[in-house]
Amino acid sequence: MSVDQPVPHHEFVILGAGVAGIYQLYRLLQLDADVLVLEAHADLGGTWYQNRYPGCRFDSESYTYGYSFSEELLQEWDWTEHFSPQPETLRYLNHVVDKFDLRKHMQFDSRVATATFDEATDGWHLQLEDGRELTCHVLITAIGLISAPTMPSFEGMDSFRGPSFHTYDWPHEPLDLTGKKVAVIGTGATGVQLIGAIAADVAELHVFQRRPNWCAPLHNRSISPEEMAELKASYDAIFEACAQTPGGFLHGPDRRKFAEVPPAERRAFWEELYASPGFAIWLGNFREVLMDEEANAEFSEFVADKIRRRVDDPEVAERLIPKDHGFGVQRVPMETGYYEAFNLPHVHLVDLMETPIERITPSGVRTTERDYDVDVIVYATGFDAVTGAFDRIDFIGPGGRHLRDKWHLGPSTYLGVQTAGFPNLVMVAGPQGASVSTNYPRAIEFAVDWNTGLLEHAARRGFRRIEVTPEAEAEWVEHVKELYGMLLLRNAKSWFTGYNSNVEGHDIKRWLIYNGGAPRYRKRLGEIAADGYRGFVFH
Ligand SMILES: Cc1cc2nc3c(=O)[nH]c(=O)nc-3n(C[C@H](O)[C@H](O)[C@H](O)COP(=O)(O)OP(=O)(O)OC[C@H]3O[C@@H](n4cnc5c(N)ncnc54)[C@H](O)[C@@H]3O)c2cc1C
Repeated sequence: MSVDQPVPHHEFVILGAGVAGIYQLYRLLQLDADVLVLEAHADLGGTWYQNRYPGCRFDSESYTYGYSFSEELLQEWDWTEHFSPQPETLRYLNHVVDKFDLRKHMQFDSRVATATFDEATDGWHLQLEDGRELTCHVLITAIGLISAPTMPSFEGMDSFRGPSFHTYDWPHEPLDLTGKKVAVIGTGATGVQLIGAIAADVAELHVFQRRPNWCAPLHNRSISPEEMAELKASYDAIFEACAQTPGGFLHGPDRRKFAEVPPAERRAFWEELYASPGFAIWLGNFREVLMDEEANAEFSEFVADKIRRRVDDPEVAERLIPKDHGFGVQRVPMETGYYEAFNLPHVHLVDLMETPIERITPSGVRTTERDYDVDVIVYATGFDAVTGAFDRIDFIGPGGRHLRDKWHLGPSTYLGVQTAGFPNLVMVAGPQGASVSTNYPRAIEFAVDWNTGLLEHAARRGFRRIEVTPEAEAEWVEHVKELYGMLLLRNAKSWFTGYNSNVEGHDIKRWLIYNGGAPRYRKRLGEIAADGYRGFVFH
């Protein structure tokens, strides 16, 4: 920035123009605040802008995912499928932004590299990746929980002659895979969606699997105009139902005691769940399935049997059945025709536990067993979840303290809203908050409203500085850890427990998620606000 051009300043800067950033912007503009959104991508939408791989769609019922804050918006938007595909969701978010005239407050192609707190002004100095600078008083992060893709580190990745990319970076221009030989590396939620969608069209598909996941059928279908009219008339009831469940979905746990339901009745119930759409099978199951080893083992065997019936080759079926964890202790990928894909003669499963990848070659993938020549390599290798987007920004607090260093062994926050030692840095959906484990917009509307209340509280009293006490933070972190103790997921090697072998230093357990359920979280935060924002310090 030259001396003639003053560094632009805004009262609030929001990082990220996804679902969270859009709503936070809307709420601050309602207060006539001076606010700017900085977005790294070339346009808005976050997750729904960037993930363009075939098969990318919701696991949330579409009509439970839309924003609920505007009745007019609810009534004018028609979802066409129960689980909306990415292009439709992106159109929806653009519609919201245009309707409320939000775009002019967004600046794209603006990736923040460094944020440094300035003690003299009680504000943040931001440095973008391209060298531009800005300042703001309050910095609000809406940088996403699954927005930092992770690539494996095989030798020779640069040598591959054809197109190769992470699913998050799927080309924006059309890519026709018809008749192509394709390698998909990774079988998490994304890989499973992708494989089901492309299997029939490609000439040859090699699926490289390290650890199988428990997947369940999505049962997507289109929404007729009559059905949409009924849904529109039921929005109050839909959102009320979501508000009652721990995950903010329509599906809440079955309250019957597992042991008291006779085995035949359990089985009939599970058959019903397996035939039901969405996360019913995961979140609408007996609570014990996620909390008790025995119940979990019984249900896992039920699902294993389904996989065996759906996959023709018994050997392939066994490889697709997880043996190192039970159903639902990791994020359950929802699938459409995933298992049946392996019945196609040109789809092959490569078990990396037996024959690991040695390197990427100019013509494809080499395992310890053989070379696979392909035209395209897709890395469906997931994300550095929850903290990844934070680690990619150098936040420097008072005294030169780096957030990366503070969170080296895992994040620590108060309520997922702030972290001690970093004043005026407010997180929407921060680590250890409830948004990260729920039907996202349901939680995000609450989080944004609550944060906006906090900011208003400080502004009305003329405070310049908002921070949290280390004591309040330590207490919250303990609470978050305790909540893990109730659930079998505490033992999983997944992003729920902060595990990611593709990220250096993340082969340890980290406490990323608040597992107490959305109703309990909202109650707790309501009480804290009513108590003058207990745990926060205002100057
Ligand atoms: C394939 C897929 C399917 C999903 N399906 C569901 C679902 O069915 N239901 C559900 O509830 N959730 C789902 N999710 C989770 C999804 O991420 C959330 O629902 C939601 O979209 C997150 O919104 P967000 O605004 O918090 O973050 P994002 O949408 O990730 O947006 C964050 C934005 O911040 C920007 N950003 C990050 N760092 C910087 C920086 N340094 N400078 C400037 N900008 C930056 C990013 O570019 C990005 O645009 C899914 C996620 C994926 C990947």
